[in-house]
Amino acid sequence: MLKPTTLIFALMFSLSSVITSASEVNIYSARKEMLIKPLLDQFTQATDIKVNLVTGKADALLARLLNEGKLTPADVLLTTDAGRLYRAKQAGMLQSVDSSYLNQHIPAYLRDIDNQWFGLSTRARPIMYSTDRVKPESLSTYEALAQPEFKGKVCIRSSSNIYNQSLVASMLAADEAAKTGQFLQDFVKNFAQPPKGGDRDQIKAVANGICDVTIANTYYLAGMINGNNKDQQEAAAKISIFWPNQGGRGTHVNISGAGIIKSSKNRAAAVKLLEFLASEEAQAWYAQTNNEYPVRQGVAYSPLLESWGTFKADQINLSRLGELNAQAVKLMDKAGWR
Ligand code: FE
Repeated sequence: MLKPTTLIFALMFSLSSVITSASEVNIYSARKEMLIKPLLDQFTQATDIKVNLVTGKADALLARLLNEGKLTPADVLLTTDAGRLYRAKQAGMLQSVDSSYLNQHIPAYLRDIDNQWFGLSTRARPIMYSTDRVKPESLSTYEALAQPEFKGKVCIRSSSNIYNQSLVASMLAADEAAKTGQFLQDFVKNFAQPPKGGDRDQIKAVANGICDVTIANTYYLAGMINGNNKDQQEAAAKISIFWPNQGGRGTHVNISGAGIIKSSKNRAAAVKLLEFLASEEAQAWYAQTNNEYPVRQGVAYSPLLESWGTFKADQINLSRLGELNAQAVKLMDKAGWR
């Protein structure tokens, strides 16, 4: 049986599908198949539009799109981090989409200023700490992690990772560059070890006592708690989340999102797909299954996200993260953050 919301979508889309006879859409996705395929199947069921999915690593997909140019079969790029979507836009790969549905349901700060890309889920990048060794009262802001009291107590992944680049870009957007530069110089001195591995590895390092705090994306901790790897479950059980910068600009958030490829031959179908991904049904799926935060208001969180409480998010327009990326990378490099 079709769910009522699926039925509404089927009705909404059936008329316009006849007019445009849009019947397929080609996606390049940096999201793993299992993180997106169930939603795409629902879309096909609701609209009769066939979805062809190519998955790959985010940066490799961008390179492939650049290489293929106008000849690319892709209609939609699905990827993570506003910094990457900004790169795709700057390279002229994307086109503007004028959809009142998307404008209504996706907050402006989570969309490109020219509507060339749209956030479809958000993830926060808070401080995660050892519940045993750290008192939450000793934590406050990202900036405070550069204080001498955290010497040798911080684990964090490499500066080549775009999540950290975007975090530093958000600091540059909030403060003078000189202040961010000084923060980085001091922050690097507090590292317990040279950066290695991904966010999950940093969380494990905190659990194993190599360091006391890290900065990591929320869905990684969720994945460790909900996954079936026993070591990761045990590590995650020793970790708590602290929402930094609540007295100021808020905790850094980023997105997974999508844009329509400039040369798309299935534009109408591609717009429908984006609108479907912003629907209440799809947003609920992001929250319940992926443990990401919905971009849409009024969609329930999973019990796990619920248990982490609410927080103030930094609502800087995410386009700024892309604009400030190069400067962020330069400063991280200068500070010796490898
Ligand atoms: Fe990730």
